[in-house]
Amino acid sequence: MRIFTASLATETNTFSPMYTDLQSFYQSFYAAPGEHPATPTLCSAPLVACRDYAALHPTEVTLIEGTCTWAEPGGLLNRAAYEQLRDEILLQLQAALPVDLVMLGLHGAMVAQGYDDCEGDLLQRVRLLVGPTAIVAATLDPHSHLTALRQQQADLLIAFKEFPHLDFMQRAEELLQLAVRAVKGDIRPVMSSFDCRMIDVFPTSHEPMKSFVHKLMQLEQQAPVLSVSVIHGFMAGDVPDMGAKLLVITDNAPELGAALAQQLGLELFSFRGRTLPQFYTIPDALQHLQDQSVQAGPVVLADVWDNPGGGVAGDGTLILHELIRQQVSGVAVGTLWDPMAVRLCQAAGEGADIELRFGGKSCASAGAPVDKRVKVVRLKQNAQQEFAGSLVPMGDCALIRFDGIDLILNSNRCQSFDPSLFRALGLDPLSYRVLLIKSTNHFYQGFVGIAGKIMYVDAGAPYPSNPVTNQYHKLQRPVWPRHPAPFDLT
Ligand SMILES: [Zn+2]
Repeated sequence: MRIFTASLATETNTFSPMYTDLQSFYQSFYAAPGEHPATPTLCSAPLVACRDYAALHPTEVTLIEGTCTWAEPGGLLNRAAYEQLRDEILLQLQAALPVDLVMLGLHGAMVAQGYDDCEGDLLQRVRLLVGPTAIVAATLDPHSHLTALRQQQADLLIAFKEFPHLDFMQRAEELLQLAVRAVKGDIRPVMSSFDCRMIDVFPTSHEPMKSFVHKLMQLEQQAPVLSVSVIHGFMAGDVPDMGAKLLVITDNAPELGAALAQQLGLELFSFRGRTLPQFYTIPDALQHLQDQSVQAGPVVLADVWDNPGGGVAGDGTLILHELIRQQVSGVAVGTLWDPMAVRLCQAAGEGADIELRFGGKSCASAGAPVDKRVKVVRLKQNAQQEFAGSLVPMGDCALIRFDGIDLILNSNRCQSFDPSLFRALGLDPLSYRVLLIKSTNHFYQGFVGIAGKIMYVDAGAPYPSNPVTNQYHKLQRPVWPRHPAPFDLT
């Protein structure tokens, strides 16, 4: 069995000013054929699953590795950059032909200039090369857009079930198992989907989604169901297919698959508006801080809408300014994206006291820059944090100290996944009263074990977090909450 595997992924926030180009991919993650590290990354786990399988079945499998690359979520992808990376992988595939199986690590919310459906475009070109009988399979991030073109061109699409996406490796292994069975003719996968006509956010660390995911896993044990995925959708991507969808794969039972997708899709629709944990305004969150005397661990303030994982900059200062104004001390901030400030700290050197302007540079809505006299406590090149067995590059970092606040400036945009980001700069996160981080929900699993309390803080910017007021141009379908009853409209 000849298997080709590659990965091309990013999540495009079409509202973001942080445009994405080739450099964004090279800076985040780029592995040429044969150069992928042993550890998986969120979007390149299929390659590691294929390697593991090939090592177990050396006489059965010939594995051909293509390029694996992803860029930190950002704004619209430069057209030439997309076409170059796409064609790089297609040329590798062409050279590998004939193949029985193509295993791709995709995201599913990549949008380039002139391409609303990059993944559909890529899958279509892959299909043209490999022919109708080869199996084409891909993992998706649930924060993606499911299009008819993708369903037509692929045999198997499986999205991560968990948000935080802790299960990315399991989903890649599951995809490979099903794909191998399909190549051998043991199953005939058929995909059925249902449009839930809604835009919402679905953390699976909380109810009702926690139980819903458990239910999906149980359904997958019941033949002829092979796989059930929830496409959560990505509200910052203005494309025609944006929104939540249910995707069911059966062993050649399309009617049963369609009925199950509809049943589960309507159940998901019934959760609308009640999937998020409690969100605090900045004044409420800081009032809670003042009220709390002794905690069993630090209070984690998650700046949910300045999350680089959603394609915004991660240099917002709205919460930080308020902490400074209210003279809250014992605070560690991880992280604030500001490569220019990192460079200035590097030039000054460890131990230097300098006047520094940092943060608040990328847009008007996420707060003004901070001007402070700071101590450059520590510098670190190529710092990394952990996430579910993968390593996430933070780039060169500087730890600065002022007003009882320790703050990590980073030069690679990345969200706050795990307390290891503080340890990377020599800080013990447990020694602080408050940890201010930037993440919507991926942080949860990493921080819940050390936090005295977690507060999701809604600073109102810069992510386009209100689907009712977001200025969509390409989204034309009726979807809740833009339409109160979208199923009654047709
Ligand atoms: Zn995601």
